[in-house]
Amino acid sequence: AVSVRGLVKEFGDRRVLDEVDLDIRPGEFVALLGRSGSGKSTLLRILAGLDAEVRGTVEVPGTVSVAFQQPRLLPWRRVWRNVSLGLRGAGKQKAAGRAVAEKALAEVRLTDHVDAWPLTLSGGEAQRVSLARALVREPDVLLLDEPFGALDALTRLAMHHLVDQLWRDHRPAVLLVTHDVDEALLLADRILVLDEGRIVAEHRVGLSRPRRRAAFAELRTRVLA
Ligand code: ATP
Ligand code: MG
Repeated sequence: AVSVRGLVKEFGDRRVLDEVDLDIRPGEFVALLGRSGSGKSTLLRILAGLDAEVRGTVEVPGTVSVAFQQPRLLPWRRVWRNVSLGLRGAGKQKAAGRAVAEKALAEVRLTDHVDAWPLTLSGGEAQRVSLARALVREPDVLLLDEPFGALDALTRLAMHHLVDQLWRDHRPAVLLVTHDVDEALLLADRILVLDEGRIVAEHRVGLSRPRRRAAFAELRTRVLA
């Protein structure tokens, strides 16, 4: 689904992405690790089509959704409206907006906040609204920039389960930026490491998804019961 060749991004004379090659097959789940400042968010922004001042080729066909590191909700729109705005440009019926938003909000466990104002949400709640907004489009490519960073450990576990389930239902190609190695090992088929703008390591996660899921389900029942 995603194909990047020789991608170079510079801010002034500072090279932030240095000849990046990246392929993500349709339905593949890839995690991107790398220290702070290594260029992860910059790469995601470019894949999302938000920054075209680059060298190299970037192909991202189909519908793309992004959940940013900072949720960026519109404060003057209620939560459900923020989510239904995610449908814009995805060729979905506008009239179905509220129902679709409610369903997505239920999936991220925010049924109680459908009519809330964004500024009244906690950081973790706002992140989940942002995730719901990314999911309503049912994208072919889903770009997630540390979407669980502000969540407590229990909610994060629930969100891992949710993302795994959604990925199974819709099979988007996913690029998940995270600092959490366990999260990457749990969710991704392949893990990439970015360092100073270069992909310096690649790891295929060996354990089959059913086996990871079983380990995960056991952990969940123990921790969340
Ligand atoms: P983190 O894990 O902290 O989120 P990151 O890997 O996402 O880090 P980026 O946000 O991609 O890092 O930033 C990579 C580098 O590019 C940083 O050194 C940052 O200061 C620089 N940078 C990012 N955006 C700009 C900009 N608009 N102008 C100048 N420099 C920028
Ligand atoms: Mg970042």
